Amino acid sequence: MSKEVLCGVDIGGTKLSIGLVHADGKLADSITMHDHVGKEPDQIVAQTVEGIHSLLAKNSLSADNLRGIGVGTAGHLRYRDGILITMSNLRGFEGYPLRERLQQSFDAPVAVDNDANAQAFGEFKYGSGIGFENMIFMTLSTQIGSGIVLDGRLFRGMTGTAGEIGHTIVEPSTDLTCPCGNRGCLIAVASGVALPHVSRRKAASGIPSKLVGGEGFDYSTVTGELILKGIRAADPLCISIVEDFADYIGIACYNVFQIFNPQAIVLGGGLMSWGDIFFDKITARFRSLAGSMMYEDVAVRKASVGRHSGVIGAASLALEDA
Ligand SMILES: [Zn+2]
Repeated sequence: MSKEVLCGVDIGGTKLSIGLVHADGKLADSITMHDHVGKEPDQIVAQTVEGIHSLLAKNSLSADNLRGIGVGTAGHLRYRDGILITMSNLRGFEGYPLRERLQQSFDAPVAVDNDANAQAFGEFKYGSGIGFENMIFMTLSTQIGSGIVLDGRLFRGMTGTAGEIGHTIVEPSTDLTCPCGNRGCLIAVASGVALPHVSRRKAASGIPSKLVGGEGFDYSTVTGELILKGIRAADPLCISIVEDFADYIGIACYNVFQIFNPQAIVLGGGLMSWGDIFFDKITARFRSLAGSMMYEDVAVRKASVGRHSGVIGAASLALEDA
């Protein structure tokens, strides 16, 4: 292994992953823990520091070999200060100076950002964004986020929360409500969070399904995986949901195209497992809306960093100022 490695830390609501990443973006080694849930922020930082040291030792390295540490978090933060504003599913992080606390244990520079920005920069450095200077990454999953790379750097806005595309409103006339409280956000109509509500309505409207609906059916069990099963079984209700979601996400792609005129839009996240039936409809909708207003082709690509994109993306944050 090269003497100089990056460390990526992905602090999520259900898992805490730490990875050592080579300069070329290849994952050298990683660990994932779940027992951070319920702990205090200081304890989670201590667990992270210990995890980094044990991973380094296991690979015959020390903290002297670290070029930088990047942290992606499932929350909002004040980027310049490295202070958390919110953190999904983990308590006590409001106002917590995460970057400063981690930096106290390391000489290598520590960068902290939200996980969508981390994944965006990972795609920019090591994945489908290679070769572009301007790129929008969207993660389509339980929720929807994005990362905006402009002229080779992440654009974060005033506070650090720029790119919350999941809360842009694409359907104001719906009564489907987002966890933020607004109606018609992209998350409310086209994310994992929306699946139980959307599938209930589809079933009530009489669209047939062998997987969803019927006497006593628990709609909270409708997940991305169930929809994938439905796609494979050519289930009309599931396919109808995929088409609706793709329609809204195509609109979101069109909106970012008009705002940023990026060279590329990269789509990642769990819902992308739905495959080409989903991806092709998104791109078709986007291209039909853009029409003759697209003077140079915008590449729409699937994310390619893969299942370790959380830690690899986090590690890539250490390269932003390099
Ligand atoms: Zn919202």
